[in-house]
Amino acid sequence: MQTVTLNNGLEMPILGFGVFQIPPEETEKAVTDALAAGYRKFDTASAYQNEEAVGRALAGSGIPRQDLFVTTKLWVQDNPAEEHTRRAFEASLSRLALDYLDLYLIHQPFGDVYGQWRAMQDLHAQGLIKAIGVSNFYPDRLIDLIDHNETAPAVNQVEVNPFFQRADYQRLMSERGVQTESWGPFAAGKNNLFTDPVLTGIGQAHGKSVAQVVLRWLIQRGVAVNAKSADPGRMAANLEVFDFDLTGEQMAAIAALDTGASLYFDHRDPETVTWLGNRRID
Ligand code: NAP
Repeated sequence: MQTVTLNNGLEMPILGFGVFQIPPEETEKAVTDALAAGYRKFDTASAYQNEEAVGRALAGSGIPRQDLFVTTKLWVQDNPAEEHTRRAFEASLSRLALDYLDLYLIHQPFGDVYGQWRAMQDLHAQGLIKAIGVSNFYPDRLIDLIDHNETAPAVNQVEVNPFFQRADYQRLMSERGVQTESWGPFAAGKNNLFTDPVLTGIGQAHGKSVAQVVLRWLIQRGVAVNAKSADPGRMAANLEVFDFDLTGEQMAAIAALDTGASLYFDHRDPETVTWLGNRRID
């Protein structure tokens, strides 16, 4: 598997398996199927409520820990954030039945993210987390966090798909040593992504599906990505993206699909800040 090198030297597989919206009772099978298909990187979150099932599948696989790359995410915490962050981290680690995490992300840019980040820096320094990062941070919040802390996030996991491409933001993050990671690479099928004529035409030229074209496009841009599928056939197909190259013309045709706007919600919108920021998971 192709990797990206994070700002602390850690190698991270460029393509992983995401388990958002896989019900807890179906997650152990999905992760077991994904391991059998060849995935070694897994992306979950305390908010997905399926960490225990991910942990059972990983433990049951017999695959050595060092061959796996596991990410989970810290949900918004009450104050004092440092104390709550440590507790939430320990709960996630215990649910995953692991003794360290490869990557731990602040899931949302809300609450006392500086307190959360200080606790994560400590956990990282203790060797309990290999790399720490953030998710859903817009540029202002990301740069402020970098400028006022010792450790810069290794990763920012943000919405990136053919209709919301964020090339300028990727450039800025790259200048600051932050790896861009896409969530929702298929925009969950919004905007008729899977039947989009441009993506379909490019797929036909390579004998590939739209999903494979999208994953290839992200990988060629150097964007890490987590694909989710509950279907073993689609899981396996989503890994078959390292045996073809998109041409410059095809990359340009996909670039032209950018609308520059989220297909979901804007994390700077006051209603979103209140809606997500006041939810509590653990
Ligand atoms: P997505 O990857 O854009 O879309 C997932 C959908 O695509 C599923 O319904 C899946 O259906 C379908 N699909 C997958 N492969 C396909 C294929 N080859 N052909 C046709 N359909 C296919 O959306 P997502 O699950 O929301 O995002 C992916 C991962 O990103 C998540 O699992 C999670 O790890 C992460 N994420 C993070 C955040 C965050 O705030 N940090 C937010 C959202 C997601 P089937 O399952 O039926 O195949």
